[in-house]
Amino acid sequence: MKLRTIDDLDVARARVLVRADLNVPLADGSIGDDFRIRRSVPTITKLLERGAARVIVCSHLGRPKGEPDPRYRLGPVGTRLGELLDMEVPVVPLPPTELPETRVVLLENLRFHPGETTNDQGFARALADLADVYVDDAFGAVHRAHASVSAVAEMLPSAAGLLLVREVSALSKLLEAPEHPFVAVVGGAKVSDKLGVLSNLLRVADTLVIGGAMCFTFLRAQGHSTGTSLVEEERIDDCRLLLEQHGDRILLPSDVVIATEMKAGVQTEQVRIDAIPDDAAGYDIGKETSRAYVDAIRVAKTVLWNGPMGVFEIDEFASGTRAVAADVALGPAYSVVGGGDSVAALGEFGYTDKVDHVSTGGGAMLEFLEGKELPGLIPLRAGSGRDLEHTPRPPVT
Ligand code: ADP
Ligand code: MG
Repeated sequence: MKLRTIDDLDVARARVLVRADLNVPLADGSIGDDFRIRRSVPTITKLLERGAARVIVCSHLGRPKGEPDPRYRLGPVGTRLGELLDMEVPVVPLPPTELPETRVVLLENLRFHPGETTNDQGFARALADLADVYVDDAFGAVHRAHASVSAVAEMLPSAAGLLLVREVSALSKLLEAPEHPFVAVVGGAKVSDKLGVLSNLLRVADTLVIGGAMCFTFLRAQGHSTGTSLVEEERIDDCRLLLEQHGDRILLPSDVVIATEMKAGVQTEQVRIDAIPDDAAGYDIGKETSRAYVDAIRVAKTVLWNGPMGVFEIDEFASGTRAVAADVALGPAYSVVGGGDSVAALGEFGYTDKVDHVSTGGGAMLEFLEGKELPGLIPLRAGSGRDLEHTPRPPVT
């Protein structure tokens, strides 16, 4: 997929509206992980270097319900962005009565307005009126038809920012031209979230490695008892079908770590998957499984990892995820990791910088890998919409 880039836009002296993804964890006014803020800096810097008169950054954060909610104010995000850019970044409410004189401003949380999530034309117009051109750099939001990623992109000359281009090219490479063997490692909580991705990946991947809670729905499809492990009953048939069609390319656990409770300090045991007692659940892949998964990853030339292998938040159940993370990160394959929790795990183990591409998108990455058309990318495609138009610019003074 080819997107228009900043190079296709005339940004000198222009007011540029940048849709960034600054949706970071925020608790009591302090930012948990600023990964997404850091990743949005290069585009803003580049626009400033290219002589943009002003960069107006906007983002959503959390899920406020279409009205101001003090828990989701972007103040701390503006402060952090300002530190990274080494300049002041004031946060202004929308619509601004007056924009401050700084070169970069951050609009207050877009989801304080009901028009954002309904892709309202009027709300998009209010955003478009602030700028001459539009740059979308919010990969994490392109799967939503929201005003700041969809409607506004049709109202101004538009292009994809550096991060968005990088995300799309890394993920397109996986689907269109992966170097083989391509091993996809998928885990996490719910198989229902990821069945679409699994099917689409099976078109291109040589091996699909499955862990996390979702492996238990597959194990049930194979006829195993899974105790109190998380199983999505209504998905057992889908898993069975995938196993019938592609079983020779799907790796499932041979042993698991079980416990009677999902909490720190609990007594754990390694058992084979045909020996899970009725009163216990699997919370991690076992040692033998880890070894088999690591062996599969080591021979890969391309690896994708999404979804933890176990409840890595609790030490007793973190080994499987740690082993897989280490090999994805340190092995020789071209590596892509995505998913909020997987990226958090990677960071916790200290491997973020060792991975070729760490995606900022959770849901967006999954939908892209499912092969879905993403509403935010449609208006940015080369050859579409406002491609060749130019807006009048104030003369050089
Ligand atoms: P990502 O955000 O990387 O896409 P998911 O949101 O799909 O990942 O899943 C992450 C969650 O899955 C983690 O909170 C983890 O504790 C949970 N999880 C993984 N394995 C298990 C398991 N065996 N039982 C219960 N929860 C699990
Ligand atoms: Mg998650």
